[in-house]
Amino acid sequence: MAISPLSKNILGLFLKKVCPSCGCSLEDGELLCTWCKLRIDRCSEAHWSSTGAPVLNPSDHMEAGVAGVPVYSAVLYRGLPGEIVVRLKFKGGKHLARAAAGMIMHYSMKLPAPGDVLVPVPAGRKRKRERGYNQAALLTAKLASLSGCRSHDILKKDDSPSQVGLSPSQRRENVAGVFHMNGRYRVPEGANIWLVDDVATTCSTIDSAAGVLLDSGAMSVTGLTLAYRKRTTDSIIHR
Ligand SMILES: [Zn+2]
Repeated sequence: MAISPLSKNILGLFLKKVCPSCGCSLEDGELLCTWCKLRIDRCSEAHWSSTGAPVLNPSDHMEAGVAGVPVYSAVLYRGLPGEIVVRLKFKGGKHLARAAAGMIMHYSMKLPAPGDVLVPVPAGRKRKRERGYNQAALLTAKLASLSGCRSHDILKKDDSPSQVGLSPSQRRENVAGVFHMNGRYRVPEGANIWLVDDVATTCSTIDSAAGVLLDSGAMSVTGLTLAYRKRTTDSIIHR
């Protein structure tokens, strides 16, 4: 049923905008409330997908013999972002994808330019069936609408055990060779691709997926995640 502009105005009086994280009321145009924003720390460095080491000079892809692609994370995992990731990923909090995408747009040191292509890091079939959705795909869709970029679901992933609780070298081994081009899809010609995921820890998932896109003709690949989680200081979620 269509809602007339007048009813919309009247509804607006009753439907106050609320913070998607804590539910308190929001000022117009605000993504999260002031209190929630206080629990967010910006991530001030990018990381190489090949080693997880910080990127010293983003324009230097040959930096100290490091291969791989740069991975930009908007915020640190600790505090609110970690809670948002857990709710989005494990507790059915699909509505938080928009706030997560908004956080990327607001906090990331680098963002996709118009004409760039966003590609979600895919989930394995089994995981997607259990969860009912792929949080990286939801995040990518919201990010596409906020950034004006196109998004293409051109990768697929074999089922592999969870990365949770694995050492950095086990993580790399666990995701080696699990990504493939999705059936009939191709990498758009000359495209700068941004691989989007919720969290980067060792960056090994993005490294493995980026390899497939580069082998399939991508001009450049950059990783983009909501949160960066340091393995040494942040606890690992056991689920
Ligand atoms: Zn809040």
